[in-house]
Amino acid sequence: MKKLIIALDGYSACGKSSTAKLVAAQLGYSYIDTGAMYRAVTLYFLDNYVELTNPKAIKTALDKINITFEHNPLTQLSDTFLNNLNVEDEIRKMYISQNVSQVSAITEVRKAMVAQQQKMGKKRGIVMDGRDIATTVFPDAEVKVFMTADTVVRASRRQKELFAKDEIVDLDIIVENIKKRDNIDSTREESPLRMDKDAFLLDTTFMTVDEQVEIVLQLATSKMIAINKELGMVN
Ligand code: C5P
Repeated sequence: MKKLIIALDGYSACGKSSTAKLVAAQLGYSYIDTGAMYRAVTLYFLDNYVELTNPKAIKTALDKINITFEHNPLTQLSDTFLNNLNVEDEIRKMYISQNVSQVSAITEVRKAMVAQQQKMGKKRGIVMDGRDIATTVFPDAEVKVFMTADTVVRASRRQKELFAKDEIVDLDIIVENIKKRDNIDSTREESPLRMDKDAFLLDTTFMTVDEQVEIVLQLATSKMIAINKELGMVN
């Protein structure tokens, strides 16, 4: 059975990673959270006072950054490591969300992350979520989904996630952050957030995570059947 690449792109906080994790688990695929990679770079840049307007400093910093994912047996999820340090909790904090889109718009940063993502997905059998997976990282992905949802619904979901990690943030601040990130992500020069022409549009405003997962799994199953038919494995 040919292993697929499933690309889940879309706006901030519309349930991409929750959906991607469950789809990957169901299919026995790996899950790669590309947003976590940009968040880890942002953490490094902030901690090391890297000037975003200094290309030399950015290049030097990128050469020193090593991002990996490791399975956490306690949560059964994958944690993000920056230079061998577990930064999973830190990169989800609001101050990272408030700086990440400025960092991810830098061409050198994107080039470095995209190259790493393409390497990670080389063996296929992956679910990758982000902003430019279908358009730039894996234009040959067999399943492409573009997720969106109402801004206030997205913000209140994010507020609950932050609250569960003891970070209390005003809804207005989260709405503002989501709008700002969407705007920077969609208007940047290098691989802006946009729906690929082959992508399936999934509006999650009134959906549960299980419903979202079901739709993506159906798209993947249909694709697998079509591929097997083409290969002459199913009549
Ligand atoms: O998905 P998440 O909200 O964690 O992503 C954080 C930020 O990382 C996004 O707002 C965007 O600026 C950047 N990003 C990106 N390209 C990706 C994934 C994330 O530019 N493929």
